[in-house]
Amino acid sequence: MHWEKSDRLKALPPYLFVEIDRAKRQAIAAGRDVINLGVGDPDRPTFGFIVEAMRKAVGDPATHCYPFDEGVPQFRQAAAAFMLKRYGVELDPTAEIITSIGSKDAIAHLPLAVVNPGEVVLIPRPGYPVYNSASVFAGAEPHYLNLTAEGNWQADIDAIDDEIARRARMIYVNYPNNPTAAGADLGWYEKLIAWARDNEIIVAADAAYNEVYFETPPPSILQVPGAKDVAVEFHSLSKTFNMTGWRIGWVAGNAEVIAALAAVKGNVDSGQFNAVQWAGVAALEGSEREEILQQRQLYQDRRDALCAGLAKLGYEVSTPAATFYVWCRCPDGIDSMTFAKRCLSEADVVFIPGIGFGPTGEGYFRAALTVEVERIDEAVERLGKISW
Ligand SMILES: *Cc1c(COP(=O)(O)O)cnc(C)c1O
Repeated sequence: MHWEKSDRLKALPPYLFVEIDRAKRQAIAAGRDVINLGVGDPDRPTFGFIVEAMRKAVGDPATHCYPFDEGVPQFRQAAAAFMLKRYGVELDPTAEIITSIGSKDAIAHLPLAVVNPGEVVLIPRPGYPVYNSASVFAGAEPHYLNLTAEGNWQADIDAIDDEIARRARMIYVNYPNNPTAAGADLGWYEKLIAWARDNEIIVAADAAYNEVYFETPPPSILQVPGAKDVAVEFHSLSKTFNMTGWRIGWVAGNAEVIAALAAVKGNVDSGQFNAVQWAGVAALEGSEREEILQQRQLYQDRRDALCAGLAKLGYEVSTPAATFYVWCRCPDGIDSMTFAKRCLSEADVVFIPGIGFGPTGEGYFRAALTVEVERIDEAVERLGKISW
């Protein structure tokens, strides 16, 4: 049989980290002491009270059948209660909230629900690669919004061409941001919502890092009056509760968009395992527990260690207010791929080159705060020995 990958798979950009991945695996296999600041996955286990809730739920045969496509009512109610308490946003848990299998599920399936082939999806760069893949899979035309440090890594809404705005069906935004760690305030969201309403464009806001913050809690785009006319927001339990492997999140906002997404998901999956949703209820109800607050402090200590260390070595780095990433300029004249390769080969330290998040990520690297302070200090010390 002769066959080839589908055109939609071929249309995805090449995976840029093949060489770095290979070099990393070889280094580890050779017994070298690799410090991995690459992966955006919490190093700590899921909190004990959530694991206990899961143990209990999985023992109850009532959880063993097909879940409701849109999620068990109690999880959606818990998400609604969380949105009200944390953001002051009122949502109808039956119409305006849906459970998702991690937020990636919803982020990836949304264009299939609301975008026709040939319509434009606006995609920020640098950014999470799934926004682009999801748009390509739906046959949409990606239009990239190139973000810059000077623009605070926020899209310049006023600069979006009228013709593009007319053809656009949807825009992705993500604050606090992966990879740049930039934030957005309510003023920026207000401007975005006003523009999206004028142009009848769906706003798909990725809030995966909204609960991973240091001093000031980031806002929800749904706090903007009228946001629900055009916006949905993706929330995830992955980063907040160290639950990346559990695959649980929710989407909140515009009821019609959520119903359309539910229709796609009804044909693709049958929802998340009920027991995981029950564990999610426990997580959301325990979101102000001491251990969650301690984890913010843990990331803050790591952030402070890394930012101070990099600054001391002369790197141009700004201190993030949220996320567990530090986004930093490469030394002058060194492209991000060369930087990452040399850090690995000369210092056994793994960073993600900015180019992996799109061309405007060039000249930067991303470090994840997912190792202990002592290891961060060690990584900085080794970095200091490389001469550029
Ligand atoms: C980690 C991450 C997600 C969430 O992934 P889950 O599917 O919820 O585990 C979404 N968006 C961004 C930008 C992320 O970094």
